[in-house]
Amino acid sequence: MKLKLLFFLIIVYVIAGFGWWSYSLIKFSNNEYKLKLQLLEKDKLSSAWKMVEVGKLNQFVSSQADTVVVNDVKFSADIEQMNLFLSKVFHDRFILIVNKGKYPVATVEINPETVKKLQKELRLKKRSFAIEAILLTLLIATGIFGVYYSVSIVFDLNKQQNNFLLSVTHELKTPIAAIKLIGETMLKRKLPPEKQEELLGVILDNTTRLEDMTENMLTAMQMESNKYNIKKEELNLSEILENVKHNFALKNNMLGEIEEHISFYGDPVLLKMTINNLVENAIKYSDNKPVELNLYEANDHIIIEVKDQGIGIDPSQRKKIFKRFYRIQDEETRETKGSGLGLFIVKQAVEKHKGKIIISDNTPSGTVFTLQFKALD
Ligand code: ADP
Repeated sequence: MKLKLLFFLIIVYVIAGFGWWSYSLIKFSNNEYKLKLQLLEKDKLSSAWKMVEVGKLNQFVSSQADTVVVNDVKFSADIEQMNLFLSKVFHDRFILIVNKGKYPVATVEINPETVKKLQKELRLKKRSFAIEAILLTLLIATGIFGVYYSVSIVFDLNKQQNNFLLSVTHELKTPIAAIKLIGETMLKRKLPPEKQEELLGVILDNTTRLEDMTENMLTAMQMESNKYNIKKEELNLSEILENVKHNFALKNNMLGEIEEHISFYGDPVLLKMTINNLVENAIKYSDNKPVELNLYEANDHIIIEVKDQGIGIDPSQRKKIFKRFYRIQDEETRETKGSGLGLFIVKQAVEKHKGKIIISDNTPSGTVFTLQFKALD
């Protein structure tokens, strides 16, 4: 949140800076234009006096010369010659206006073309400053956004990896501690056979948990580096699901209908892991409420549904939960165990079988994970 605010402030600062910069340049161009007009006005006055000065020296005299008045001064001159002089010496910046009277009265005016040229120059300058400012702002804002994006990815990954380490160490510690305690107890005391059997069962449960976890970690890492060697074969999906259901039924109430003899072409290990992960989540995030596992064929598709009555998943989180290590909330604030790898594997596995995952709300509460695969012909 702080990082977002910092980058937002930097972007605002850059936009304000470039806004101010282009505003100043445009203002400067306006002033420059006004100054040039003032200079023209001054030059116009001196050009008129220059005409008088040259005229008085009879420099404009020819066979068509007549008495001309400029700035109330009379002298003999040929208007044609005066025009030629004006355009040559003052580079067409001024024109001569002659009013006929008793004597022709000549006044020097600024050439409208010169003013038009200055106005065009001003327009072009303003436009180029505005375009430059917009382009630079966009460029810098894109750069800042790019940096923000990369930094936030590194931040998120770092946070998720910390969460992962925290949860994994916790997940490893619990079964190891249980196995150690049972081992110590069995060593110290001679226990009746039925008690021994019970404790061996607990050891088996815990080693299965450790095995599942290491299997998940290994598969996730292989998938991440594209090294998972998928082994597809024609298999009985109904049997795989029945098996998973049977195993979970030992510790949780499992409902649902599994249609018989549904064949599929896929990787049995990966598919089993996928259903295992979904059902395990369903139990975990519903506080051991009954979980429904369905398998059926509809419209040339194989549908697998895992429905729970748990805490549900907010729609804003439904895309994120498939990311590696992603877990909703912080490790410190949550109680459920997990590594954030389960759904990453589910997504990869479903993609490898060209399937689709849909998350929806269950009624009255909880989540439905629906997997869709194209059925065998
Ligand atoms: P984890 O090991 O944390 O369960 P997963 O990748 O399996 O990792 O799931 C990612 C996150 O998605 C979980 O931490 C949990 O917050 C959320 N989640 C997954 N399944 C469910 C579910 N059935 N109900 C509610 N939340 C779920």
